[in-house]
Amino acid sequence: MEEKTLVLIKPDGMQKNISGTVLARFQKAGLRIVACKMIQLNEAILREHYDFLTEKPFFPEILSFMQECPVLALILKGDNAIALTRELLGPTDSTIAPKGTIRGDFGENKMRNIAHASDSIESAAKEIARFFKPEEVFA
Ligand code: ADP
Repeated sequence: MEEKTLVLIKPDGMQKNISGTVLARFQKAGLRIVACKMIQLNEAILREHYDFLTEKPFFPEILSFMQECPVLALILKGDNAIALTRELLGPTDSTIAPKGTIRGDFGENKMRNIAHASDSIESAAKEIARFFKPEEVFA
């Protein structure tokens, strides 16, 4: 099924200057860019985006990490885009992510794990609307 998913190259991915490498992996797998921009995230949007984590002890650290520098926000489109993107990323914890996955190859730990990708059709729809205006999406 053709799907759209929201990807954020997080501050660690931007600081390591590997956004092109990460994007190339998604593109090699057949995904296409239908929207793309840099955004400096703020606390309000992060509280919304990570609302299921706000009570966790590590939430302040996530807030600070995700504001270290601007992120690259993308909407990728393709067959099975949501599961495919997460498969290419690997599990949340970079230390157990297999080599060959983006997080396994470039991530450091559970928090600094290079990129975010939507995890369901419902969250993709919400996240796309959170980060992009309809006129910024070219598909
Ligand atoms: P994913 O990004 O793989 O969907 P989650 O939705 O569980 O993972 O968590 C969102 C983000 O919060 C993670 O990508 C990571 O940056 C951060 N995070 C999750 N769990 C932890 C943790 N135990 N310690 C620090 N940061 C965490």
